[in-house]
Amino acid sequence: MGYRACVCKELMFSAVLLLGAGCASPAGTPEADGSSSTGTTPPVGTASSNAATTGGSTETTAAPGASSGTSSTSASSDTSQSGTASSTGTTGNASICDGGSFPDAWPDGTACPEDTFTVHRYSENTFILRQSLCTGFEGPFLYLMFGQDRVLLEDTGYAGAQVAPVVYGLIDTWLAERGRESIELVVANSHGHGDHVGGNSQFVGMPNTTVVGFDVPSISSFVGIQNWREDIVAYDLGGRVLDVIPIPGHQSAHIALYDHGDGLLLTGDTLYPGRLYISSFDAYVASIDRMVTRLADEEVCHVLGTHIEMTDQPGVDFRFGADQHPGERELQLSFEHLVELRDAVAAMGTPQQEVHDDFIIFPL
Ligand SMILES: [Zn+2]
Repeated sequence: MGYRACVCKELMFSAVLLLGAGCASPAGTPEADGSSSTGTTPPVGTASSNAATTGGSTETTAAPGASSGTSSTSASSDTSQSGTASSTGTTGNASICDGGSFPDAWPDGTACPEDTFTVHRYSENTFILRQSLCTGFEGPFLYLMFGQDRVLLEDTGYAGAQVAPVVYGLIDTWLAERGRESIELVVANSHGHGDHVGGNSQFVGMPNTTVVGFDVPSISSFVGIQNWREDIVAYDLGGRVLDVIPIPGHQSAHIALYDHGDGLLLTGDTLYPGRLYISSFDAYVASIDRMVTRLADEEVCHVLGTHIEMTDQPGVDFRFGADQHPGERELQLSFEHLVELRDAVAAMGTPQQEVHDDFIIFPL
């Protein structure tokens, strides 16, 4: 893997944004009419939810891994759920990786206006949303994952875009497909930077909705984490277990989610095809190592972060702040990328920028 020194000119600017007001501010004017979608997307229903309000239910352990109960595009995608709390060790059925798909390309900001949120149905029970680059250069990705008892939304984009109607519309669609009336929505965040939590307030007080919060105490109490840098706790959506892995480094309250259902590892801003801004290097190194160690025996179909900043040319990124991404790299990374990152930062005596084909290590 050919590395070379990064000559990014925006370091100071980036550092100010990341350490100051959050990950970054949207460059453009957010649109107010959030809506969907791509051709592979199910229709987005009207923005409403139903049934009674629930409080914040807390799950600290995983339930036995029964099937999801719904037919997936993969015939056996629901057979590899694992059972016990924390460190569940299921060697996944290889076919869980066959159940999902990605679009050929995401809207890249070159044909504004775009839909504020593009929705892609990755699998029967997983949706990926991207906030348009036309509304701001960050273009973050959001994830909506359904279990039988609750659905988890990871991240809400940055403020100003109407994300809640899109999410509740997808929930209505999913429920209608099953003839069901309601499901609890849990809103969580990969970390607390502004481009990932901006829409949280839209969900506060909504029916059947729990907003977890994005600080360490809130996350810890919700899923039952005792030791932030050590625990890995399973959270059950109902036949679909997520491992919640604290991964400080980019930001102190950052988490990763490993999804036993679809074999997805959600890594937020800690690993994505772009500039990996690291605010606490030692913590970051430990976090990456912990993910590799934890998941070495799991089926990790894709590693999914929350931005794309790389072009489709190896080692070449878009300039910081670019709100048009022609020739954007695909979103998905692999477990091998995580290992590559682990090896690279572990070998770094002094934190330094290092360009890899599919990401750039970027200590602040
Ligand atoms: Zn971000």
